[in-house]
Amino acid sequence: MNIDDLGFDPACCFIANQWLPARSGEVLALHDPSTGEALCSIARGSALDIDVAVEQAESALDSDWGRMTAPERGRILFRLGQLVLENADHLACLESLDVGKPLKQAKADAVALARYMEFYGGAADKIHGSTIPYLDGYTVYTLREPHGVTGHIIPWNYPMQIIGRSVGAALAMGNAAVLKPAEEACLTALSFADLARQAGLPDGALNVVPGLGSEAGAALSRHTGVRHVSFTGSVGVGKLVQTAAAENVVPVTLELGGKSPQVVFDDADIEAALPFLVNAGIQNAGQTCSASSRILVQRRVYDAVLALMAERYQALRVGPALSDLDVGPLISARQKEVVGQFLSQGTGLELAAVGIVDSDAPEGGFYVAPHLFAGVSPDHVLAQQEIFGPVQVVIPFEDEDEALAIANGTDYGLVASVWTRDGARQMRLARKIRSGQVFLNNYGAGGGVELPFGGTGLSGHGREKGFEALYGFSTLKTVAALHG
Ligand code: NAD
Repeated sequence: MNIDDLGFDPACCFIANQWLPARSGEVLALHDPSTGEALCSIARGSALDIDVAVEQAESALDSDWGRMTAPERGRILFRLGQLVLENADHLACLESLDVGKPLKQAKADAVALARYMEFYGGAADKIHGSTIPYLDGYTVYTLREPHGVTGHIIPWNYPMQIIGRSVGAALAMGNAAVLKPAEEACLTALSFADLARQAGLPDGALNVVPGLGSEAGAALSRHTGVRHVSFTGSVGVGKLVQTAAAENVVPVTLELGGKSPQVVFDDADIEAALPFLVNAGIQNAGQTCSASSRILVQRRVYDAVLALMAERYQALRVGPALSDLDVGPLISARQKEVVGQFLSQGTGLELAAVGIVDSDAPEGGFYVAPHLFAGVSPDHVLAQQEIFGPVQVVIPFEDEDEALAIANGTDYGLVASVWTRDGARQMRLARKIRSGQVFLNNYGAGGGVELPFGGTGLSGHGREKGFEALYGFSTLKTVAALHG
């Protein structure tokens, strides 16, 4: 694909359905992680651009967008979903170039984005208030209303999916959104905004301001015109965003990191588990919030599971995104360095297997071969901290109590899975594991847009996806009429 032929200028912000350079006139360089070479320039949006975007979003709420009925909003989201599907190959290609994601994974993200638009388009007119029986002479009812202007700060690892679940739900409820994509990857966010314009989204209902987190991101999170902030990213920045939003007393959704376990008992269907055990660790080169980076295996089947995982690891091939191998590059030289530092802390551990970086992979690309460490103590840094690279640790356990203690033994709680044929154990662990999602005999359930998602502990709070997101992106008003 020709990056010069996007149909819009990537060095611009998208505000009120127009392409505007950053007020400062400054740009930032985007890099292709597969080669390390510059891809194009993007706008270096700042507080000035955020001010304009929030103003335009406020105007949208006072005009066409704010007056639109829920079914009309739904229809626009449906049309947008259709346009996303028609452009799925193009969007996937852009995402592969920008994020370094193998093409088939990027295509799956584009299809998921379309599905989010369908889901939230269909849900737009199905969320409503209720009537409440009350004292004699009163009629009491509730209204579910949009917050107003919502701020969306997202990372680079799954731009399309995160836009879908966050911006899609906010628009369905009638909010006007200002989106700050990550400085490392923002092309599909801009392309999506252009499709939204084509689908008939009124001026100002969706605005995109690319730029640095410390500039555009910080300005969005502290803006007094923003009435809800949805943040997806690291724990450290999540704390800054929540603190900034607290100054304005606005609600915040934090979708942060994880150290998600899969727990394999000795009665599990190991053949069925195997692809999930490995794929959930290496998908998107491990740069997934819900990556399963800890595999807990009961002693009696430990050697067998480890041998099967190692066999798969040795066959994993790493290369350029457009070659569509098992694993692509990491997002940046910086991320490669971070993962390298973690790997060096694995010195002395049993290295059960390593994947292969393709000999044709360009020198300048940010490639890291997947690493599988075995026999790792649950307290080891590799078993405790989010690495955000293709690295998994295998940890043995004796019994259910020990498995539970290890599974709950980190500061995170995003996703977990349990592999066992014992139904009672499934139910016990589903309740006792501290995690926003628990999967029984699978991992991720195909990532369904219908399934509420979010964390506990350092993984964050609030829920996106499913109907739950619609409650988060709206507020409830109680009306009590005394009529005698
Ligand atoms: P990051 O926190 O560095 O950046 C995320 C976003 O925040 C970017 O848009 C960035 O520009 C912005 N930002 C940076 N500094 C800011 C500031 N001071 N104020 C406001 N915004 C600021 O995260 P990252 O490295 O891009 O992403 C990786 C992290 O995201 C991992 O921890 C991963 O687990 C997490 N993540 C979580 C989910 C989830 O749903 N739970 C999904 C994807 C990624």
